[in-house]
Amino acid sequence: AIPIHGVPGTSKERTFIAVKPDGVQRGLISDIIARFERRGYKLVGLKLLVPSKALANEHYADLSKKPFFAGLVDYMTNGKAPVIGMVWEGPAVIKQGRVMLGATDPTAAGPGTIRGDYCLTIGRNICHGSDSAESAEKEIGLWFGGKGEIVNWTANNDEWVVSDN
Ligand code: GDP
Ligand code: MG
Repeated sequence: AIPIHGVPGTSKERTFIAVKPDGVQRGLISDIIARFERRGYKLVGLKLLVPSKALANEHYADLSKKPFFAGLVDYMTNGKAPVIGMVWEGPAVIKQGRVMLGATDPTAAGPGTIRGDYCLTIGRNICHGSDSAESAEKEIGLWFGGKGEIVNWTANNDEWVVSDN
């Protein structure tokens, strides 16, 4: 059985992608899911939740000393809108997920990326994606630690989407 966080460097690589509360509030859930789905990545985890402060603190632990940290945690957890948490699987999905999101600061995000197409400022950049295999493992475990929350499944068109050579 493969671990819930997948196997980096293979077609079973997995990443954690989230639609943040501003993305949910602005009606962008379906667009963000569609981009990953149409490309051929496989959805193996999906939930709607208002994260606890503990979850947001842990998720963004590496930023805890930053001046914007309290505001960032409040934005994610205040319940004005929920977060969509997802796990997507496929070749190079960690790196390509970040490319699809675009630069952290939307003023530097290119057209065709999610942030470059839909948002303007770093404090409201509508989406999250794991930045490395280590982050993906940590974040998938944090957001999808419960039994049965990740689903291993075979798509009927897998052989038409991923070839091993
Ligand atoms: P990401 O991995 O591209 O999301 O970027 P980081 O891990 O560097 O930062 C995490 C999140 O913190 C970003 O997506 C923003 O929501 C927020 N953030 C980062 N830098 C700033 C900043 O300078 N100001 C504000 N208000 N938020 C920031
Ligand atoms: Mg980050």
